[in-house]
Amino acid sequence: MLIRTPAENTVVVTHTHVSLQITLRDGQISYQLTSTDAGLDISDGRLGELSVAGVPVSWTALNPGAVTRQHDGSSVAELTINAPGLVYVQYVQTYPDRPFVRFWGAVNNTSADAMKITECAIAHFVIPQAPLYMFHVDQFSWPHRSDFFTQHQSQIWPGRTPLEIRMGSYPSHYDAATSCGWFALKPPPHDYDAEMPPSQGPGLVAGVEFNGKSRVFGWATPTETHVRSVIDTLNHILKPKATFDVPAIFVGRYHGDWDEAGFVTHRFAESYVHPPRPDDRYPWVQYNSWKYGQEINEAQQLEVIDRCHELGIEVVVMDLGWANTIGDWHPNKAKFPRGLKPLAERARSYGMRFGVHIAIAQCASEAPIAKQHPEWLVSTYDDYFGAGFFCFGNDPCRNWIIEQVSRLIEQEGIDYIIQDGEDMVKYCTRTDHTHAPGDSNYANSQYGIDVVIGTLREKYPHVVFENCEDGGMMMTYKMARLYHTSITVDNIATYATRQGTYGASYPFSPRYSVRYMEDDPTPYTLRSSIFGGPLILMQRITDWNAQQFTYAKASIDEYKSYRKLIRDAKVIHVLPPRYNVERKGWGWDAIQAVAPDQSESVLMVFRAMGGGDSRAVKPRGLDAASTYVVRIKDAGSEQVMTGAQLMETGVTLALLELSGEIVHMVRQG
Ligand SMILES: [Zn+2]
Repeated sequence: MLIRTPAENTVVVTHTHVSLQITLRDGQISYQLTSTDAGLDISDGRLGELSVAGVPVSWTALNPGAVTRQHDGSSVAELTINAPGLVYVQYVQTYPDRPFVRFWGAVNNTSADAMKITECAIAHFVIPQAPLYMFHVDQFSWPHRSDFFTQHQSQIWPGRTPLEIRMGSYPSHYDAATSCGWFALKPPPHDYDAEMPPSQGPGLVAGVEFNGKSRVFGWATPTETHVRSVIDTLNHILKPKATFDVPAIFVGRYHGDWDEAGFVTHRFAESYVHPPRPDDRYPWVQYNSWKYGQEINEAQQLEVIDRCHELGIEVVVMDLGWANTIGDWHPNKAKFPRGLKPLAERARSYGMRFGVHIAIAQCASEAPIAKQHPEWLVSTYDDYFGAGFFCFGNDPCRNWIIEQVSRLIEQEGIDYIIQDGEDMVKYCTRTDHTHAPGDSNYANSQYGIDVVIGTLREKYPHVVFENCEDGGMMMTYKMARLYHTSITVDNIATYATRQGTYGASYPFSPRYSVRYMEDDPTPYTLRSSIFGGPLILMQRITDWNAQQFTYAKASIDEYKSYRKLIRDAKVIHVLPPRYNVERKGWGWDAIQAVAPDQSESVLMVFRAMGGGDSRAVKPRGLDAASTYVVRIKDAGSEQVMTGAQLMETGVTLALLELSGEIVHMVRQG
């Protein structure tokens, strides 16, 4: 990275793939972002867009500071920006191998008086071209609609009312659309027909690293497209000498279709955002106790662990029911008289990990801590299995949960934690907490759940964390920076599981699509769960008959044979599972993974109800000139086709209703 100041209040930052010119003019910091890599330029980006007591801050000086090289090979430039009573350090991170830039900041109050920060933009930029499409993907929600992780190509049309998209942590019972914290931009045309090759173009992707509620707005003039991401409901009291953190966002360039937008994001995030994969087998096959309900005990679960070992399962997790109650995170003595350690040791003797489910921000009124600190509870109303909830924006409460989880990890031998509950960023208007009333959205995320998970990750680097809150409701890039993996849809039927994986694999790398299987194991239900991230079986494994056990074992082996290909692959969204009719779904759907060097690909094809008995399915992303050996697994057929033939005419498959097939393509020679 090079940094220079060609003129007063102008800083130029260049790295191999990007060039930024940052200037202070009329009190505002703006930047231009260009590159020789294909993609969309930013002609006027804004940094440091903050309001104090409703008045936008007017900046008076811009100076370059240190450049530091990070252990991952990226570089961070610090810019110091001043206004009366404020010093703002803007961080600009660039990367040696990708046309991506990441922005975040820290505002320090140098005055003698407290200030109230009432607005903060996470990003604001102008693209010198209109119209554009904004592609984004819904988060989970129980009541909003039955089609999960739906993809949207939203028009940003000149003169129209701005597009408005909610992002961040929401309760899974929130009855409106919310989106994963990621979007992609590209010029028209719209891809209307899944049968047609998708349109290609220069584009831009962005990942929002904020777990609180935020909103993206998009609007256009005839010549420019404006995008602005802003924190919802901010009311932050900044005391003298205190610092306010401006959440991060990354933006990156690409050229291609929406799959390519996803792929460049996945590769960037695997290198620079996500926690490293915990081992080379990751994503694992896991067991979760939920189908045994809360009536679990040591003898029963030891038997389950033995069966898990026979199946080739790699992680065992006790779901809700292992503890005294929600908020009293000690093993229930009636169920587990010796604690969880015997289970953890049995799992470990088989080379498996052992974990627990913690509804981390929830608290039942009978929990001792609720009696000791009733003022920590925001509400005792039934938010989650009869429990009310805490506010992690309140420092003592946040510190208490860190201590509780630390004790659990150390005493019980836990090395896997599922964080569950309803919304990790609570709405709290209490006046006796350490955050200002009206600032819970910011305090509960930036200084709440992020600090809880961040601290635990740092203290216990061997522990793997899974985001799960009644379904994928905090699908942000802050989540994906803190957690190793995430749920998509919660404990749900086969077709909905495929919808979750299909949608979530645009914004996130395939390892961020945990599936919780609740349907009985059949070749169809199992195969519907093997594309993507951790495969989690949550059935009553000890009740399975011999055939169910055989099916599960075969599918686990199948999952393991493809997991490395899929986790590193470009995901191609071939046919969307669009219609979750009567929980069974309608028609055909297909998803594909292609190795980055195009040497190998797997195409998983499914037929729900209806949709016709046979059809051609066209893979994409192959090398047109190469020949591939094409094996259709269940049909038992094998043929040799060129990449061009495969992509133009496809593979014709015959499937019964509620069945699936795997097409495996390997380049010859
Ligand atoms: Zn609070």
